[in-house]
Parts: sequence; structure tokens; C-alpha cells
Amino acid sequence: MPAALHHFPVPAPTTCASCGQVLGSTYYVLIDRPERYCPTCIHTRPRCDTCGAPLTNQAWQLHDGRQQCNQCHQVAIYDLTLARQLFLETVQTLRERQGLVLRVGVDFRLVDAPTMRDLRQYGMDEAGTAPTPTRHERTLGLYLRQGRVRAIFLLHGLPRLIFRTTVAHEYAHAWQGEHCPLLTDLVLREGFAEWVAYRHLVRLGAHRAAARMLQGNHPYRPMLEMVLQLEAQLGTDGLMQYIRTAE
Ligand SMILES: [Zn+2]
Ligand SMILES: [Zn+2]
Ligand SMILES: [Zn+2]
Repeated sequence: MPAALHHFPVPAPTTCASCGQVLGSTYYVLIDRPERYCPTCIHTRPRCDTCGAPLTNQAWQLHDGRQQCNQCHQVAIYDLTLARQLFLETVQTLRERQGLVLRVGVDFRLVDAPTMRDLRQYGMDEAGTAPTPTRHERTLGLYLRQGRVRAIFLLHGLPRLIFRTTVAHEYAHAWQGEHCPLLTDLVLREGFAEWVAYRHLVRLGAHRAAARMLQGNHPYRPMLEMVLQLEAQLGTDGLMQYIRTAE
């Protein structure tokens, strides 16, 4: 017989998650997170370079100067072997479950923030157009192709789910490079890459992280919504067919 389940509502925190002071009538929250912050911390504390939360006194300094909150740190991928394994797992799922097969493989590199900035700059000079960063302020991942070398670069120390989301997004660009080289429409390119990442999260059962992609004010969100609408109209196979022939 199943045990009786008692649901106690979780009381809303009454203290600032950053400084611990008792909150007044004005406080701030971040999207889809339970923490509350006092106005002083929101306006004056340095933020986590990964999730944007105001840092507590327990912040982690990465060797390249980035600062990470404890929540991000707990699930961050710092180890190259682990990163490579997670990359391969992600790619395998994208290939087998989402049908994103590459004829030529794509290499994987784990880099720090200054290297990522250089790569982004280099990519711009090389291609004449900006390669597409996965997140608007900080580039978390990048797909670059130079001659026969094709590689996905990921920022060292990303939390596990952000790592997988970013790999999925960049892998989608690698797939586009092979299967729809004529596709220049930014909305379709980025919207499709976000859609691949979104579907990947759903497949992993990471529904909250997937839902988070449809909230907030990320510039790619409307593009993702547009591609989801296309999928609703055409079906998933229809969407894939549409993307292959779009320009
Ligand atoms: Zn505070
Ligand atoms: Zn964080
Ligand atoms: Zn992109």
C-alpha cells in the first residue's frame, strides 16, 4: 500500500539569498528560481558569470577570471575527460534520436573565456559574418569551420545542462553547414539551433530547463517560438525537410 503523501507548501524565503538579510516589501527574483534577493544585492553584488545570480560570499573563481555561484559550481564540467564523454553522449543522442547525422565528424575543444573571445573574433574575420554565439552576452559555445577542420568549442566550467544545451545548439549549426549550406536566414538558423537544443532537453527529461528556454528575454526566444510553430504546422519530419531547403 502506498504511503500517504503529505504535501507541505514550501514557505517562500524571507531572507536575501545573497546577503542573508531579512527582506523588506521590495525584493527581486530570477526567472524560474526560488531565491529572493534584496535590492542592494541585486544592484551592487557581482553576478555569477554563468547564470547571472548575485554572488554570495561562497563564490568560485575560475582560472580565467570568471566567477561562478555555488549552484553552478556544483554541477559544472571542469574535467576534460568528462566533458568529452558528455559531448559524445550528446552527439550520439542527436544523431540517433533526432536524425542529425554528419558525414564529416566534428571535433570537440574545451576552452577558457579569453580563448573563446579570440575564437569569436577570429571567426568574424574569417567568415565576414559573426559566428553565432549561443548566448547573447557571453559566448558559451561556438562552431567553427576552417578548411577541413570543423570543431565545436565549449567554455570550460559550464553547468551540465547548459553544457548539453550548448553542444546541441552548436551541433545543429554543424549539421546546417552540411545539409543546408544556403541557409542564411538568421531567424531560421538560430531558431532551428535553439529548437534542436530544446528538443534535446525534453528528450533528457529536463522539462524545467526546456520550459526556461520559453521564458525570459533571451533574443533567440522568439526565433525558437517561430520554429516550434513551424513544427506544429508541418510536423517534425516536415520541419526537417523545410530547413534543408530553406535559404
Ligand atoms: Zn541581499
Ligand atoms: Zn550561477
Ligand atoms: Zn547559434
